[in-house]
Amino acid sequence: MTGPATRCVAAVIGHPVAHSLSPRIHNHWLAAAGIDGCYRAIDVPPDRLGEAVAALRADGLQGWNVTVPYKTAILPLMDRLSPAARTMGAVNTVLCKADGTLSGFNTDGIGFLKHLNATVPHWPKDRAALVIGAGGAARAAAAALIDTDIPFLMLANRTEEKARGLAADIGRQRITTVAWDALSSAVTAAGLIVNTTTLGMTGQPPLPLDLSTAQADCVVYDIVYAPLETPLLRDAAARGLAVVDGLGMLVHQAAAAFELWFGAAPVYDDALKSDLHKALA
Ligand code: NAP
Repeated sequence: MTGPATRCVAAVIGHPVAHSLSPRIHNHWLAAAGIDGCYRAIDVPPDRLGEAVAALRADGLQGWNVTVPYKTAILPLMDRLSPAARTMGAVNTVLCKADGTLSGFNTDGIGFLKHLNATVPHWPKDRAALVIGAGGAARAAAAALIDTDIPFLMLANRTEEKARGLAADIGRQRITTVAWDALSSAVTAAGLIVNTTTLGMTGQPPLPLDLSTAQADCVVYDIVYAPLETPLLRDAAARGLAVVDGLGMLVHQAAAAFELWFGAAPVYDDALKSDLHKALA
């Protein structure tokens, strides 16, 4: 690339990272805001994270995103952590301060909740929420949900030990764990069901969840966004349940990062929406 947009002002690091939609999102917003600079995807090979962070710190970027597998590994390389990043034990956004120090944030939880509230503003908060999974994304969803008015949170994960660890790390009351083979029995009690596992992603088997006992106002949220309509969401929609897909969470977490770096809230306009839908088709 030549011209004024060759100056890298922000980036995403991960491994692999070529599939990331973040450059499409942030480069659209940089252009819309008239900011002279671009956002790049940087593949950081295993064992080179420290080196990569030192190089990014020296390059004078506003900040960068962190994706799989470095969201936890990057924690000790930060000078400061936001309360959310500390609770979740994961950083997805780094802000470089003018004095060269690095602050680690986690905008996944904000993105998760903003998209839910925007899509189904009156989702049932008077019943439990069921979060399926206990990986990095589950941490963000669980930490965001426990701060809402729900009476309690149910966590179910194939490896139940990890669900118990997550409950302990969030460190609050109102969290119970559900055995993987009892997953379907938790459906009846839930006002919100969230899939945060990789099941349902392109190339993965679907999440084995029987929605037949879900209450009519139950909301089903799948944070997987490739494909946009997972087998879980297709099943939920066919049963007349409200559904929330994973793309909006991605866009909202990106918007929160952009605002941290550039001080202005970006707009999810129709051109970006259509570009992302095309990329995921
Ligand atoms: P992760 O930390 O690797 O966690 C993976 C989770 O999936 C674990 O709970 C794991 O259970 C479970 N799992 C994997 N294979 C399974 C199987 N065969 N049967 C049952 N459970 C299985 O990954 P992550 O970072 O949390 O990401 C999870 C998904 O969320 C990915 O699809 C990712 O693309 C998506 N995501 C979306 C957004 C967004 O903005 N929409 C943001 C972040 C992530 P075990 O603990 O038993 O292994």
